[in-house]
Amino acid sequence: MAGRKDRLLDEKVQDPYMDRNLYRDPTICPTCNLVFHNKTWHQDTAMLEKYKKLDSTDYKDCPACRKIKDNYPLGILIIEGKILEDESKVEELLNLVKHEEEKEMNSNPLARIMKIERLGNGIEIGTTTMGLAKRIGKALYKARQGTLDVVFFEGEKFLRVIWKKD
Ligand SMILES: [Zn+2]
Repeated sequence: MAGRKDRLLDEKVQDPYMDRNLYRDPTICPTCNLVFHNKTWHQDTAMLEKYKKLDSTDYKDCPACRKIKDNYPLGILIIEGKILEDESKVEELLNLVKHEEEKEMNSNPLARIMKIERLGNGIEIGTTTMGLAKRIGKALYKARQGTLDVVFFEGEKFLRVIWKKD
């Protein structure tokens, strides 16, 4: 996967939840306690405590919590293959998935896993950002090889990342 191709994919998908004009400064998300300040969302306890005390602080769900409530993923990661027949390997994979989410959230607190679903012969993971689905796909590929595909279907509103390992 070349970096340039990744960027082209990103440009095709608009994030309808990232309208910065929607939020006053400061705003606290009552669901996850992120703070909107200086055009960015922060996970910062000191900032949270400071703005909680202000009467002028607005309270509104952040884009990540709104996506979760609306069930509107921007990334879908699909795990397929015979590796899923071994439950201990599945547990290992899901630990890796959650670990990547934690790492991504350090740089982007709006990047979250929305849901993890077991389908017939696969696992489907919905993410609030395209970047997180790609990051997890790359980490799975790095750890266990297999095949990794990143596909964007015209007309769809999310990026699909498929990792398969037999
Ligand atoms: Zn939130």
